[in-house]
Amino acid sequence: MADHDIVVLGGGPGGYAAALYAASAGLSVALVEKEKVGGTCLHRGCIPAKALLHAAEVFRTVEHAAAHGVKLPDGFKAEPDWPAANTRKAGIVKQLHGGLSGLLKRRKVQVVIGEGRLLADGSVSVDGQTLKGKATILCTGSVPRAIPGMDIDGERIITSDHATNSTADKLPERAVVIGGGVIGAEFASVYTDLGVDTTLLEAMNDGVLPIGPDRDVANVLAKSLTKRGTKINAQARVGTLERTSNGVLVPFETPKGSEKLEVEQVLVSIGRRPVTETVGAAEAGVRITDRGFFEVNPTTMLTSKPGVYAIGDCVPTPGLAHVAYAEAVLAVDHFLGENPVPVDYAKIPWVVYTHPEVAWSGLTEAQAREAGHDVVVHKHSFAGNGRAMILGETDGLVKIVAAKDGPVLGMHLVGPWASELMHEGYLAVNWEALPSEVGRLIHAHPSLSEAIGETMITFSGRSLHG
Ligand code: NAD
Repeated sequence: MADHDIVVLGGGPGGYAAALYAASAGLSVALVEKEKVGGTCLHRGCIPAKALLHAAEVFRTVEHAAAHGVKLPDGFKAEPDWPAANTRKAGIVKQLHGGLSGLLKRRKVQVVIGEGRLLADGSVSVDGQTLKGKATILCTGSVPRAIPGMDIDGERIITSDHATNSTADKLPERAVVIGGGVIGAEFASVYTDLGVDTTLLEAMNDGVLPIGPDRDVANVLAKSLTKRGTKINAQARVGTLERTSNGVLVPFETPKGSEKLEVEQVLVSIGRRPVTETVGAAEAGVRITDRGFFEVNPTTMLTSKPGVYAIGDCVPTPGLAHVAYAEAVLAVDHFLGENPVPVDYAKIPWVVYTHPEVAWSGLTEAQAREAGHDVVVHKHSFAGNGRAMILGETDGLVKIVAAKDGPVLGMHLVGPWASELMHEGYLAVNWEALPSEVGRLIHAHPSLSEAIGETMITFSGRSLHG
């Protein structure tokens, strides 16, 4: 006999979204979480990282205040206050955690704090208690990958878990970031802007965001970081780290030669791995892929075990909180016997919150060509955009990829508030809108969005300012 409709194992964005959404549909739900509801995103990921990125933005604004007509006392020099930035960040996390806990309570979700394990009958055991649902949703998340032999101590050699929860009284003077993906790029951006002498070591051919975004937008970010002081090394092979009395010695090789850098901190951001082995799932009959993810049917999010769903970072789909939310809705709708539309992973929104921000949805130019489309591309720089000039942030561009005489296939942005602007592109891509249809829509003046409108108009062969 089931005590609940749904038992959710893991309380990150996938788990809490599944619980909240299921409860809003009138289902009875239990949620098992071993630490705090909110998971990586709220406590060690998205929210704290973006709060620190915002601290860096305020710092840049203050540094450039005089250019905007704000007079500061003679000899004034802005200095980062790392503990204060971390205190503010912790306050935001605490408030969101409180809000989420309250919401779960109001929706009458039974939250059980403890380490849960899946049992052979699909129920979940936690601290001697057994929770049986008509269905179980596994949302066990992911943890940072480590390089074998690299001793992550949380102080000198750290991962994003530590970087987002720093208790240090100041930033390191020099840091190496290993991995130029999303986390590496975001932390290189924070550190560089707050005055840390930052070296980025990326194994692949492109030093920043080598996988994912269109090269035209990634290159603007790489150029901006380099101009601000990040030393970006592509095709870098990192040797064995050595501890010294002052920090860590990092040997590495690039096509330019070998180097050894002594730094106070090394941030390892080489990807994340799913948490699937420690929750009893394989023993209970859930198939795990070669790469360690729960195998799921993407049209339902069901695993190989009847009645057991899996969503979020523990399944082989993009490891993003908003993707986990979408998968939560899909799994619950399927449980309810509805016929949900599967997530279209090729058209999800992507945002990298660096300075400048990078965001996109849909196919890159290279992917569109590879897929055999007769591709038309138009770009519009923020350099001539009035609002961007007012903000003093003209580094960036809008790039739209469309099929000839056909719909928008991809929109790629780099520049101020790309994170927010991108959703217009997301709609266009997912609605399969024609550039001419979007070009007819009015974009307010002056606005950053105008750059999108103008790029769409350019597909007609006519243009306004571009
Ligand atoms: P990632 O996969 O984005 O990037 C890892 C990078 O490290 C890759 O470019 C890879 O080539 C490089 N690399 C791997 N081994 C290396 C080595 N030995 N030496 C040098 N480089 C090496 O992973 P991440 O940046 O750690 O992020 C992990 C996850 O977190 C991703 O799934 C990401 O989607 C998610 N995340 C998303 C956001 C966001 O959407 N804004 C922010 C942070 C994290």
